[in-house]
Amino acid sequence: MESETLALDLDDNGFPIDSLSSEEEPVDRDSEKVEERGLVIPSAVQNTGSFALDFYAGGTDWSCLISKEKCSGNKGLVQKNLFQAWGIEKPSLIPSRSSISFSPPRKRHCSKRIAEDRSGTERPRICPFYKKIPGTSFAVDAFRYGLIQGCSGYFLTHFHYDHYGGLSKRWSHGPIYCSPLTARLVKMCLSVNPLFICPLELDTEHLIDGVKVTMLEANHCPGAALVHFRLKDGRCYLHTGDFRACKMMQSYALLTSQRINVLYLDTTYCNPKYRFPPKEDVVNFVVRTTRKYLEKQPKTLVVVGSYSIGKEHVYVTISQALGVQIYTDPSRRRILQSFGWPQLCGQLCSSGQTSPLHVLPLSVLRPESLKEYLKKYSPQFTAVLAFRPTGWTYSEATGNHLDLIKPTSKGNITIYGVPYSEHSNYEELREFVKFLRPERIIPTVNVGNAANRDKMQSYFQEWLKT
Ligand SMILES: [Zn+2]
Repeated sequence: MESETLALDLDDNGFPIDSLSSEEEPVDRDSEKVEERGLVIPSAVQNTGSFALDFYAGGTDWSCLISKEKCSGNKGLVQKNLFQAWGIEKPSLIPSRSSISFSPPRKRHCSKRIAEDRSGTERPRICPFYKKIPGTSFAVDAFRYGLIQGCSGYFLTHFHYDHYGGLSKRWSHGPIYCSPLTARLVKMCLSVNPLFICPLELDTEHLIDGVKVTMLEANHCPGAALVHFRLKDGRCYLHTGDFRACKMMQSYALLTSQRINVLYLDTTYCNPKYRFPPKEDVVNFVVRTTRKYLEKQPKTLVVVGSYSIGKEHVYVTISQALGVQIYTDPSRRRILQSFGWPQLCGQLCSSGQTSPLHVLPLSVLRPESLKEYLKKYSPQFTAVLAFRPTGWTYSEATGNHLDLIKPTSKGNITIYGVPYSEHSNYEELREFVKFLRPERIIPTVNVGNAANRDKMQSYFQEWLKT
């Protein structure tokens, strides 16, 4: 099912009222955000406008963000909301068309841009302001809104459904810019017309519609990129997509040489309670635990959960440590092979009987489902040891003492939730922001709730104070 049937409500600041309710596809999402659905507090407080006030009350001249017509005769920034501040019209019932300068012929599917709400009323899906890069005609991870007025380039930061949702073989609204690996996945998994796919090599400056664009490694899933935009007037914007901030990023020349004016930040875990450990510590714990179980019970089947791409490092490390191959179903195997990583490709196998290490969708990692799964491989395997690698399994009580993690056990099925995250923890976010010292920060995750946005803004102000 595609997001083309979904309606999206925006509040007065242009944020989705419930940004997660629009995610329906269970296959290719970022697994950490899937679980987030259960944790998000319902948006009880909306339309407070305080985020909007904070946003431009800091003394920065935001006039470049306002369309020319709106600027004239309106010197002070007295817009009531961010729709006005960014020169975006509030949703109207009939979406208008615009011309986009891109060569491939395209059919427009205006009818698909209209979705029905619960009452059956038709309304258009409007792209939130924070998905549009000001001063450019670009949008980032904004495919579910169909044709965006005036947009000449659609950037995709990585291949997780909550970012590419809306892309399909019918896509015809303009060029899609992404990393080469993401480009391969878009073509292979979604059958998007290759004429629309524009791979951009990482660490290389590309001139697109007068804007210098550079993709940088994001330390998230394979192919994930940070996108750096340098405008003609010298302003720089950095969109992190999803990322896990790390020391390596502090050596990116582009991030050290010039100040970032606006940082669009992955705020999945922007809360001091999330202090989960480095990925290496978690992977070492997983390998240690696996060895321990195999010593006790050599006929143990080891299962690693993963929704789509991401978490490869967990099972590749187990595979290398134990000297065993990795079994996955054919569709995942095809995706993994497309990465072109020799150390991964060489370890994949097509028979579940010949490998004690299986990769399964996270949804299968429940005692009942694993019990059923084990039956297929009995009597060769008599027990299952499974790992759910996601930051949401982090518990403050356990902290970084991974050996204190208590698994869920039911008979011969043991499941460990391990805080292996491909998003930044709170400390990493803070360190990254303190290093970057951007003029402004726009959070891109957990923004569906005004109270959350306010809290995040207060953290940002604190970090930028000293
Ligand atoms: Zn992601």
